[in-house]
Amino acid sequence: MHFPLPANVQTALNGLTAHGYEAYIVGGSVRDLLRGVPPHDYDICTGALPEETKSCFKDFRVIETGIQHGTVTVLIDHEPFEITTFRTEGDYLDGRHPSSVSFTRDLKNDLMRRDFTINAMAYHPQTGLVDLYGGQADIANRCIRCVGDAHTRLMEDALRILRAMRFAAELGFAVEKQTAQAMLDLKERLALISRERIAAELTRLVGGSWAAQVLTQFAPIFYAALPMCKTMDLPSLAAAPMGDTTVRMAALLHKNGAETVEKALQSLKLPVIFTQECVQLVAYYDATITPEDVPLWLAKLGIKQFERLLLLRGEAERTLLKQEMQRAVEEKLPLTLKELAVNGRDLMAAGVAPGKQVGEMLTYLHEKVLRREMKNDRETLLAQIK
Ligand code: ATP
Ligand code: MG
Repeated sequence: MHFPLPANVQTALNGLTAHGYEAYIVGGSVRDLLRGVPPHDYDICTGALPEETKSCFKDFRVIETGIQHGTVTVLIDHEPFEITTFRTEGDYLDGRHPSSVSFTRDLKNDLMRRDFTINAMAYHPQTGLVDLYGGQADIANRCIRCVGDAHTRLMEDALRILRAMRFAAELGFAVEKQTAQAMLDLKERLALISRERIAAELTRLVGGSWAAQVLTQFAPIFYAALPMCKTMDLPSLAAAPMGDTTVRMAALLHKNGAETVEKALQSLKLPVIFTQECVQLVAYYDATITPEDVPLWLAKLGIKQFERLLLLRGEAERTLLKQEMQRAVEEKLPLTLKELAVNGRDLMAAGVAPGKQVGEMLTYLHEKVLRREMKNDRETLLAQIK
């Protein structure tokens, strides 16, 4: 078996092997090469200790961000590569962090601590594939399986429960029976995991092409991860387009109501903008949007959010409302107050008393223009005030 590697990946491996250290690409990149999918990045593991790795890359820029965990980042042709020393992990006393991490010269120990067989393979062009746990067969059979005893491995780190779902949703693989049973048995242990780690896996899970199937099979785990949410709309998630996690999350959660969704997403500490946008889509999920009102909706939501809302509608409605949207844009209707032909100063100059009347009057004129009852032109609007 031979995989062509990009030149800078080869440079990274050579830098280590030239000094007598073992080095491999590992994890997701090996999995993707075996699936015939181009890897989005290459993680490298090595028998060299972090200081030794550094000395192998004297001619390159080295960033020491994760050095205590054994990770050294090396920039090769402007691309960062994480090079991590083979590690073994001590016992997981708290169900989320190993009580100790130690370095080892033995690749086998490093592969043993990895989560799933499909992620526990290493490759070097000279050595070939190192597959100690049947990862290649599991890829061929489209199967997610823990390395070693599933119950033990999920007890160590409950995040692996969600990771299994995430990989199943992204890859369309089935979860092997004992792994699936252990996931369901140990779901309450997700309460031990930090909200940020849960959020990262959950958003990728929802973004996956097979998310609806996976959430059907493992619904109790979803509710354990996000206890505030009491219902999922899986048909709506299945119908939602790929590529926009905000839209997909709104499709999945909308039946819980905007208030609950806001609390749930805030509890995950997702980026504020993601939460706000998703909650807005949930709030207007069922709103009636008539063609005449499209300019008003555009002013209220902005084009981006309005288009997202359309993605959650049936095809006939989406096509019709999209046409209305394009018409409003072509007509150059003032979709923001700034684009209205008059501003607050104009109104006061025309005799409107300063204070909240100014804002109210602007909103009134804006609405009239958006309803196409007045033209967006200075004279027309000023004449209207008098
Ligand atoms: P992706 O292509 O989505 O990045 P990945 O396999 O690279 O997939 P990462 O989350 O980047 O996934 O993790 C890199 C590797 O580290 C995994 O392939 C796996 O070998 C190991 N790993 C990550 N998280 C865990 C974990 N919680 N327990 C055990 N091993 C893990
Ligand atoms: Mg990765």
